[in-house]
Order: sequence, then C-alpha cells, then structure tokens
Amino acid sequence: MKKKHLFWLLLPSYWLLTAVAILVMAFYTFHSMSNLYFQALEKDISIRALLLSEQVAPLVTDEKFSEIDALCKKIGATANTRFTVILPDGKVVGDSNKEPDTIELHDNRPEIKQALHGSSGMDIRFSRTVRKEQMYIAVPLKNDRQETLCAVRAALPMTDINSELGKMTRQVVIVSILTGLLAMGVCVYVVRRITTPLLGMSSAARQFAEGDFHHRIPAQQTLEFDQLAEALNSMSEQLNQTLSSLSEQRNEQNAVLTSLDEGVLAIDKRERVIHMNRVAGEILGVEYTDAKSQLVQQVVRFANLQEFIKSVLGSQQPLQRDMCLRSDDEKQIQARGTVLWNAEEQSIGALIVLRDITHLRHLETIRSDFVANVSHELKTPITSIKGFVETLLSDEWNHEPDILRFLEIINQQSGRLNSIIDDLLILSRLEQKKGRVLSEKVALAPVIETAIYLCQLQAAKKNIQISSICPKDLEFEINVPLIEQALVNLIINAVKYSENDKKILILAEKQHHQIVIYVKDEGFGIEHKHQDRLFERFYRVDTARSRKLGGTGLGLSIVKHIISAHEGSIRVESRVGIGSTFIITLPLTASANPGA
Ligand code: ADP
Repeated sequence: MKKKHLFWLLLPSYWLLTAVAILVMAFYTFHSMSNLYFQALEKDISIRALLLSEQVAPLVTDEKFSEIDALCKKIGATANTRFTVILPDGKVVGDSNKEPDTIELHDNRPEIKQALHGSSGMDIRFSRTVRKEQMYIAVPLKNDRQETLCAVRAALPMTDINSELGKMTRQVVIVSILTGLLAMGVCVYVVRRITTPLLGMSSAARQFAEGDFHHRIPAQQTLEFDQLAEALNSMSEQLNQTLSSLSEQRNEQNAVLTSLDEGVLAIDKRERVIHMNRVAGEILGVEYTDAKSQLVQQVVRFANLQEFIKSVLGSQQPLQRDMCLRSDDEKQIQARGTVLWNAEEQSIGALIVLRDITHLRHLETIRSDFVANVSHELKTPITSIKGFVETLLSDEWNHEPDILRFLEIINQQSGRLNSIIDDLLILSRLEQKKGRVLSEKVALAPVIETAIYLCQLQAAKKNIQISSICPKDLEFEINVPLIEQALVNLIINAVKYSENDKKILILAEKQHHQIVIYVKDEGFGIEHKHQDRLFERFYRVDTARSRKLGGTGLGLSIVKHIISAHEGSIRVESRVGIGSTFIITLPLTASANPGA
C-alpha cells in the first residue's frame, strides 16, 4: 500500500474540522440575526398597530366607520403601512389600501381571530391585495369592561427584511469564506510545524543508519519533539560506543587469530568462509585476505581436507585427523574440527584448526629411525651375551656359588634388555608402517581364542581363569597378528596385575558401526591420576612391581599403536582394588589398508 505523508494525513482533517466549525458559526449567526430582524419587525408593526388602535378607539365607540377608514388611509400613507380595522363579526371598517366595502369578511385570518379573542396575533403570508409577502400583527381594542370592540391590524411587507436577510447571508458567506481561507492557511502552517521537525529527525535517523554518528539533531521548540530529539541523539551516541567497542573487540580477535601459530578456518553452513587467519592461508597456499565469503571448495583445494570439513559440518562431535596435503611440496597437517554453535545452540558452521606438523613428523621419523637402528645394533651383542651366559650357566661348568649368582643376574638382566629391545623393534616397525596395516576380513572369535591360548601358561601359574564371549559371526577387517599381539599384551597385563585365583573376561560385541572389545580383570586396579598416561612409552604405575614381574613399560604403548593403525581407539576404566577394563573400539570397515 502506498504510504501517505503525515502532512497530507493531518491537513485534510484539520481543514474538515475548520470547515465544520465555520459552517456551524455561520449558521448560528444567520439564525440569530434573522430572529433579531423578525423580532424587531414584529415589535415595530405591533407599535404601529397599538398607535392606531389608540386613535381609533373613540371612533369605534361612536361607530364613525368612515372616519376610521379615512384615518387608516391617512396614517397608512404616512407610515407606509397597511392598516385594517375589523369589527368582531369580521367586517372591515377601515383599510389603508382598499375600500372597506370591497373587502370580504376578515374573521378567518389567523391574526385577526386571535385579536378578536383578546390577545394580539401574528401571521406571515402572501397578500393578494398588495401582492407581496406581508407580516400581519393584529391587536384587540377593548372597552372598560374588557370586551373586544374591534381588532386593529398593521402589516408591513417582508421584502425589506428578506432583502436585509439576503444581504446578511451574503456577508456571512463572504466572511465565512475569508475566515475559511485564513484558517486553511493557519492549518497548513500548524501542520508544517508538526511535520517539519519529524522530517528533520527522520533524515537524522537515516544518517545514523548510514553510520554518521557525529550528526546531532538540534533542540526543538516543543517539549515532546525536544525529548524525541534528545533520545535519538543519545541512541546514536550509544550505538557509536557499542559499534566502536565491537570493532575494537573484532580487531583484538583478529590480532589474536592472526598471531596464532595454528591455522584457523571458520566456515558457515553453506560452506562459505567466515574467517581465515594468516597461518591457515600459508598452510593452504592461498591469500587469506581474499578468502572471506568464498566457497570452501575454492579456498581449500585438497580433497582429503574438503572431505574432513564436510564430516565436521555433518557431525555433532569434535573430530581430529592427521593428513598429508600434496601440492608442489608435501605438508603433514593435523586438522581438528568442531561445530560452531550460536547463542540459541543452533549449529551455524564449523571451526577448523590446522597445525603444520611436517617438522614434527620429520623429527619423529629421525627418532624412530634412531630407535630402530639402535635396537638393531643392540640386538646382536645382547643375543650373544645371553647365549654365552646361558652356556656358562649350563651344568658343564662347575662355578663357585658367587659366580653362579652373578651369572644368573647377568642372565636375568640381559633377558630384560632383550625383551625391551624386542618391544622397541615392534614399536619401530609399527611406526614405520605409519598407520598403514595390511588387513583381511576374518572372524574375531578365533583371534581371541588364540590370544587366550598364548597366555594360558602364565595364567595357569596363578590359577587365573580366562573366558571369552564373542559372537561367531562377528567378522571384520583386521591385521590378525597385530590384533592378536594387542590382546596378548592386555591379557598378560591382566594376569600380571591380578592376585591368584582371579578371573579375566574378554567380551566382544558389535555396536552401531563399531566393534568393541572389553578385556576385564579383577586385579589391583589403576588410580585415576595414572589412567591418562598409561599408554605412554615406559610409563609404569609401580616401576618396582613392573620390573619384578618382567614388564618393559612398552606393552600398552604397543597396544595403542596397533589399535591406532586400525583407526580405532583404546581407553581404560579402572577402580583400585576392584579391577580394570581395557576397552578397544574398532571401526567395522577400516579405510587404512595397503602399505605394510
Ligand atoms: P609393563 O610392561 O610395565 O606392564 P605396560 O605398558 O604393559 O608396561 O603397562 C604400563 C603400566 O600400566 C604397568 O606398569 C602397570 O602398572 C599398569 N597396568 C597395565 N595393565 C594393568 C592392569 N590390567 N591392571 C593394573 N595395572 C595395569
């Protein structure tokens, strides 16, 4: 709908009001004036009738009708008034305009009827005698006994009063039109005084909306407009302050994000870039200042990272993935992604944090190669030391007891060293595979059975019973020797860290798209503070006990590597004195396949 200006909305109503007021005033004035005229005329005619009645009174008593008629004619001509004298039987005995004999009986005239009844009467009507509209007033002439002797009537034409009224109407109309025009002008002035400040304020508000907060609305003459102007001015000031502090905050945030060592990429739900910092631009090889509002596919040209961003946008959980970005050079990055929520807890996009771990990976490779090389180098001398010590301990040699005791210590320690080197070599091999393991689709139940079988001897020594529950049809892609090794490590730990006569249960089941394996014991349990660090190399809860039991401190670390190579995860739930449960989660179809 087309909007009207306030000016054109107010003005017609003001005009209408003024017109109605003027019309009412004109009508009232006209009415009062015409009443006044009528009353004055009525009074004038009455006085004329009374004056004549005084003069005709003696003539009526003496019945001198011809003199009455002559008097009527004489005074009528002088006063320019029609006079008539009528007897109670209606007979006209005197008339200023006609001969009484020629006039019919007048007793049916309303004013005369009333006068003959004793009170004065009045009527306005067209007179056939003078051919004009006339006002007639008849007064009774009474004797001493209050009997009506006759009626004396005076009449004047209405022409004068009508022309006076016509004149007055014209004047009232002219004055009304002039007043109306003046009032219209005044209305225009008043409406302008209302709308002009409003126009000024609306243009100021437009300037505020365009960001010009320095503009000020001047003080207004009316209280209400002045208050409105003040309110708008203070609103603009507050807006200015809020916007300044917001832009300050944004600059601070930008400064923080820009100086971060990690790349930050914020994406909205339509996969458009909301923000990209400098480091993200360097990692992705794009100009970070141009990235805003672009589609993520235009900014990120790496299929694996695009796919990761898509999975973050579609997931409720934070995700993390290491990946290689191949362009002119090869970059190893660690990508972490989480869904972005707004204040109403609705997802509005995703935040991706990218860390360049190429250098870290390089150092890890150097370290891993070093450990592998050292382990290899140590393996040969330690194998020969162990061999010679075992030979010296054989029955062929008859050693002194002390020498025998020393040789046994050397044998025990070189055995420990050998185990450590074996575990280190396993770890190095796993690391060199860099997460890629050769997998085959097999049933899980036999793998668990073999692992239990391999631990049976050690369990029997402590009378520990190992049982398993695993659906026979539970099949999925795994590297059998590695999963077997992981299960053996966990079962051996469960045996090592349990009292005699306890029980161990291995339970495997399918949950959604995952396989979950529980290795549950009734052993000593692990305090909560150790649980996070358990899978670190050489981390032991009780070093002395571990050493005594022949532990290397590398068992759980190997398990963790094996599970990671299958893209799975491992965690522990444990309570001291009650027991521990190691929980392995593996995806039903592992994507990391060829390579080893
Ligand atoms: P270790 O060769 O010492 O057993 P692991 O890496 O296999 O090394 O285990 C690390 C530490 O975790 C162990 O020293 C032990 O203290 C603790 N641990 C592992 N498994 C269990 C278990 N089932 N119950 C109690 N403690 C355990």
